[in-house]
Amino acid sequence: MLPLVHEPDLRSLSFDELSTLVDRMGEKPYRARQLFRWLHQRGAASFEEMTDLPKTFRERLAQQTRLASLAIDAVQQSSDGTRKYRLRTQDGKLIEAVYMPDIDVEDDDEGAGIRRTLCVSTQVGCAMGCGFCMTATMGLVRNLTAGEIVDQVHRVNTDLKDRPITNLVFMGMGEPLHNYANVMRALELLQHQEGLDISHRRITVSTSGLVPNIVRFGQETQVKLAVSLNATTDEQRARLMPVDRKWNIGALIDAVRKFPSKQGRRVTFEYVLLEGVNDTDDDAARLATLLKNLPVKVNLIPYNENPGLGFGDPGPERLESFRNILQSRGITSMVRKNRGRDIAAACGQLAVQGQRQGASA
Ligand code: SAH
Ligand code: SF4
Repeated sequence: MLPLVHEPDLRSLSFDELSTLVDRMGEKPYRARQLFRWLHQRGAASFEEMTDLPKTFRERLAQQTRLASLAIDAVQQSSDGTRKYRLRTQDGKLIEAVYMPDIDVEDDDEGAGIRRTLCVSTQVGCAMGCGFCMTATMGLVRNLTAGEIVDQVHRVNTDLKDRPITNLVFMGMGEPLHNYANVMRALELLQHQEGLDISHRRITVSTSGLVPNIVRFGQETQVKLAVSLNATTDEQRARLMPVDRKWNIGALIDAVRKFPSKQGRRVTFEYVLLEGVNDTDDDAARLATLLKNLPVKVNLIPYNENPGLGFGDPGPERLESFRNILQSRGITSMVRKNRGRDIAAACGQLAVQGQRQGASA
């Protein structure tokens, strides 16, 4: 339960909590359903929009509760159709969400059809400190609430008008499993039948490897998981991703091995190729050995360069060679298309720019 000392943040409440609140306000149960639909199906940004609720009820809601919505601060459109949204929270923090008009991940369990994917953020900044990642330079500013995680989808859907989001990836700013409770709550709201009703097959949460929460996640939801591996030895990985000092590659692989993998719920390993760091043929061979006999997919990601962080993109030829070695050892991999390169669409880039502009203004 959210603390009720403050006005409750309506979009962060579960259906049951909202029903209790509406009941306490002396309203009929069907009003809770109506309100939930406004919040989670139509993505209302204000009480004024909720025209089929009595005016007096809306006024009391406005007095006694909060409706936290995000505002679109900036949008950049890439030549490949990717749209990057910089969104502002009510307390003035900047986060980002990236819309991709189609996705190159092949899945068989989801059914055919056009896939419009949104990459959402879960925190303002991130505490994990990965050396190659722009978001890490901000540190952790704060967790996003469940309502703020969900509202990214509504603000983008409103902007896209009649072409709503069909798939979600939790790969924006922040470490989802470091904001576990709010992320789980957001996942429930996004899957709710009276809300956006997005299937668990169409949602993937990406983690840098918080092992105990991977185990919990596997038990508590059917949503898919992606793990950012990014290295093949602990020496290498700990240098890139400090989280490895707490939960090393062995522990991570073990958690993935035990992850409940029903039909179509294979874990994805993400591997960002960094020039001269983790991109050699030996790395590819070690990666194949690590993942041998695991029911996983590999997603190879070309690095989106961040000036000042000192890492480079090895380029398409190195990537192809890396991929061929995996292939020859029986590991299939996909290459994530490098989207929106011209608009700084990698994790954290736009929001960090916004923060700097704000700071220098
Ligand atoms: N914190 C979670 C999810 C957000 S990061 C995680 O680390 O998995 C999502 C993905 O983006 C991770 O796989 C990360 O390794 C990758 N990434 C971060 N910065 C990148 C960059 N500049 N170029 C390409 N991928 C990047
Ligand atoms: Fe955080 Fe993921 Fe960036 Fe690492 S890669 S700093 S975990 S957002």
